[in-house]
Amino acid sequence: MKFDTRSIHAGRKPDPSTGAISTSICQTSTFVFEDYKQPGEYDYSRTGNPTRNALEDAVANLEGGNKGFAFSSGMAAVSTAIHLLKAGDHAVVGDDIYGGTHRLFSEIMTQYGIEFTFTRLNSRENIEEAIQPDTKMIWIETPSNPLLNITDLELVADIAKENQLLTVADNTFPSPYFLRPIEYGIDLVLHSTTKYINGHSDVIGGAIVTTTDELADKIHFLLNGMGTNAAPFDSWLILRGLKTLPLRMKKHAENAIAIAEFLIDHPKVSEVFYPGLPSHPGYEIAKKQMDGYGGIVSFKLKSDVGNFIRGLDLFLLAESLGGADSLVEHAATMSHASMGESARKQAGITDDVIRLSVGLEDSDDLIEDLSRGLERS
Ligand SMILES: *Cc1c(COP(=O)(O)O)cnc(C)c1O
Repeated sequence: MKFDTRSIHAGRKPDPSTGAISTSICQTSTFVFEDYKQPGEYDYSRTGNPTRNALEDAVANLEGGNKGFAFSSGMAAVSTAIHLLKAGDHAVVGDDIYGGTHRLFSEIMTQYGIEFTFTRLNSRENIEEAIQPDTKMIWIETPSNPLLNITDLELVADIAKENQLLTVADNTFPSPYFLRPIEYGIDLVLHSTTKYINGHSDVIGGAIVTTTDELADKIHFLLNGMGTNAAPFDSWLILRGLKTLPLRMKKHAENAIAIAEFLIDHPKVSEVFYPGLPSHPGYEIAKKQMDGYGGIVSFKLKSDVGNFIRGLDLFLLAESLGGADSLVEHAATMSHASMGESARKQAGITDDVIRLSVGLEDSDDLIEDLSRGLERS
């Protein structure tokens, strides 16, 4: 079945005991055994829960993987995935990834003997140069955050195969509606479901989708062992959001391209980052591997950042992205503050970078709002 249909039905069926269309919230910690030494399908909600499992099956289906796992946050999913490595292992990581992921890797996981090289994953030479004898993993975000750099997933998967490395793609920005990394040979896909998959700025969650039984067993072992699982109510909210993912993504992308085209001609804007613009350096690869370019637009402002932000009414000043409400944020002091100044500098996240999470409002109103903000900046 087609993606739009699967967004609504995959992993879900009416409740057999009541006929309820909406997946029931199975709010229980534990499940009664059928007999001595005989647990039923479920025994304890950390290990498995029917509401969570419905979400896990739905996300796995949309990404085209074999199994899905739902976590209490995107960072819980990232933490779980990075525990596939052990002391002495090394990972090659994109240099402009989510600030929290950068902090976890560089400041926490390094304390346990795992090493990281952060580099731009935009050419075979760059990637191969970063690979060491102990390298086990390549970690990708495409489009990246906040500069929307594009990584060629087929190229990374090819290099990884040659070097027997595991590939992980954080697919939060495009969502499976616009990009399914598994189709290009990526081993493991990860989400902050807080963002587009839930889409309503009202829950924190994460997900991982695997491609083999071996990887699925390892991830479930870690999820259960570390206790990084999602709660039933959160899983239900995310399932509810998922039903409208295709509709929302279409509108986010429509609004985003209209805004990118408005900004590119504005005298107070020096550079616009949106992979749907033919001038974007990753445009050709994005066109090849994505079905659309998403709802995030970043740009460099020539004038005063504070005055610009204060001049906006509709775009609210907040971190996060992917919700119905449009948001504006200053990458260096907000989403990417945890990255540290030198890593920001390496990634090109200068103090004039503004990131917009373009919401579902009317694009004329959004452009008018930005126009007012720019005027006052
Ligand atoms: C937000 C985000 C995360 C972290 O997710 P949380 O749900 O906030 O824990 C990870 N990766 C990307 C790309 C994100 O945008």
